[in-house]
Amino acid sequence: MSDLPVDTLLTVDQAIAILDAVPIQPRIVQLPLADALGLRLAEDIISDSDYPPFDKAIMDGFAVRSADASAAGVSLIVRGSIAAGQIGQPIGMGEAAAIMTGAPLPPGANAVVPVEQTSRDGNRVILNKPVKPGQSVARRGSDTSMGRLLLSKGTLLGPAQIGVAATVGKSSVAIYAAPSVSLLATGDELVEIDQIPTGSQIRNSNLHMLSALLRKLGCKVRELEIARDHPDEIRAAIGDGLREDALFITGGMSMGEHDYVPRLLGELGMDLRISKLRIKPGKPFVFAIGQHPNSVSANPAMVFGLPGNPVSAFVCTLRLANRILARLSGGNPEPQIDNLKSIGDLPANGPRETYLPAFRTLDQVELLNSNGSADLFTLGRANALIIREENASPASAGAMVRVINLPGSTPAL
Ligand code: AMP
Ligand code: MG
Repeated sequence: MSDLPVDTLLTVDQAIAILDAVPIQPRIVQLPLADALGLRLAEDIISDSDYPPFDKAIMDGFAVRSADASAAGVSLIVRGSIAAGQIGQPIGMGEAAAIMTGAPLPPGANAVVPVEQTSRDGNRVILNKPVKPGQSVARRGSDTSMGRLLLSKGTLLGPAQIGVAATVGKSSVAIYAAPSVSLLATGDELVEIDQIPTGSQIRNSNLHMLSALLRKLGCKVRELEIARDHPDEIRAAIGDGLREDALFITGGMSMGEHDYVPRLLGELGMDLRISKLRIKPGKPFVFAIGQHPNSVSANPAMVFGLPGNPVSAFVCTLRLANRILARLSGGNPEPQIDNLKSIGDLPANGPRETYLPAFRTLDQVELLNSNGSADLFTLGRANALIIREENASPASAGAMVRVINLPGSTPAL
């Protein structure tokens, strides 16, 4: 179990290039609009009409002809009342119609006088101010016109985008299906989180952390039972897990006597494209692809092997596996990386690209004092990771550093 010299390992950029080179076909499905929240469009959404579809009153008041009311104090005969959802009769010279917000202007009218600027005298209305053409009216097509592109393919559907689709009558939409992933924790030491660990046991916290992270990254997650450090048990679990678009395995990834996962993946005919890289935390990250009879995906069967140490597993999922997940979801694999001012000094970095728990504001970031790859508690106080390049020199407070956000952490940025 000799450790390879660090300079023979892949760099993070090389690992990313390997992940990006895998051809990925996202799955397209037609879904009721109500089920499409948080997914990406697999079609363009085009306006089916002009919006507003008619000249529309935007105040409660009176529809008038502006030519009748160029001075204050004009009195007009009120011909009926038009509510939203109704069509009014035409109005002629010297006439007005009561009108409610959202109702179409009656033929002949070209302005709306808000009720607050009028007084009533029997069946007449007196206008307190002169009226300009088009006042308090939203013109047909002024928000968008028929045939215009409203949301392009690849757009993430949030509540506002769902509203746009609903407005133009898209009761169902073509979307990229959420990637389906299975999640397997391996290790003799693991117990369920509602158990009290004894002796050398620890709770299976990675399952919960990674399941949450993968859901935040847009996946549907199937959690598998813990597999003990035994080849038969792990082999069976891998076979089951390969029924999804991708299988995530945590633990058993390195060179220990009981680290069976890379060897078993090889035995199953999977091609280990990545088995170690120069990332900290997370050196023993595995990415394997291949064909497997259980795979139902149009894509190769894919396995992400994550270190058991929680911070490593988290960082490798966010920084590496997410590149494939983003493409499976119809999105862009490039994460948002911000340049922020470091509040404190940063030490020199070693020969691996390093991801350090940190707390950021809009324009500054503070490195948190962490005990490393097993220190999930510090990650729990972080909302971002500072990225330090290989062999970076020490940096002084005020230096600009690259930062990647933790999904779903506070404050939401
Ligand atoms: P391994 O990668 O299996 O060598 O594990 C590295 C470290 O991570 C060990 O201290 C394990 O106890 C810990 N670990 C492994 N799996 C989990 C898990 N599912 N949840 C929390 N810690 C884990
Ligand atoms: Mg282990």
